[in-house]
Amino acid sequence: MIVKLHDIEESIAVKGAMDGSRYRRPEDVDLSFESPIEYELTVNKMGEDVRVEGPVQCTMRLLCDRCLEPFPLPVSAHLDIELAPKSDQPKLPEVELAGEEMDLYYFEGDELELEPYIYEEVMLAIPIKALCNEACKGICPVCGKNRNTETCTCGTTKGTALEEKLQAFLKDR
Ligand SMILES: [Zn+2]
Ligand SMILES: [Zn+2]
Repeated sequence: MIVKLHDIEESIAVKGAMDGSRYRRPEDVDLSFESPIEYELTVNKMGEDVRVEGPVQCTMRLLCDRCLEPFPLPVSAHLDIELAPKSDQPKLPEVELAGEEMDLYYFEGDELELEPYIYEEVMLAIPIKALCNEACKGICPVCGKNRNTETCTCGTTKGTALEEKLQAFLKDR
């Protein structure tokens, strides 16, 4: 979704849906999109600057951190960024760093492509540890079976090889 800034008097509402997979980066291999990313944004002109704000949401498909199975995850986030004309960008790196804490971005020319910002907001909303289920039992570290769907007899909670030897020894007596 490209917004032409000279068409905006004060503010406009921008509503639509985008294909998130177009923006996938190499490090995003573990995720895909089950639905388009829907957005309902307000683009506000504030003098030279532009503020883009509003809800974004979609359903993603992620790999569970514990069992590595894919599962759907609804994601909803709130985009709120300010953009300034590139000509205003401070030349000194230190100044630029100081401004970074308030989500300030820069644009060039008269057109503003909103989709990369929408995509980025969705990425930020994904939990670092995504689980298919809070109670996911994960994968057995010994035999590699998915403990949610299969039971194994590894009994990894039972401790060390030494204990097992001891138990076998006691059983033999
Ligand atoms: Zn899982
Ligand atoms: Zn096992």
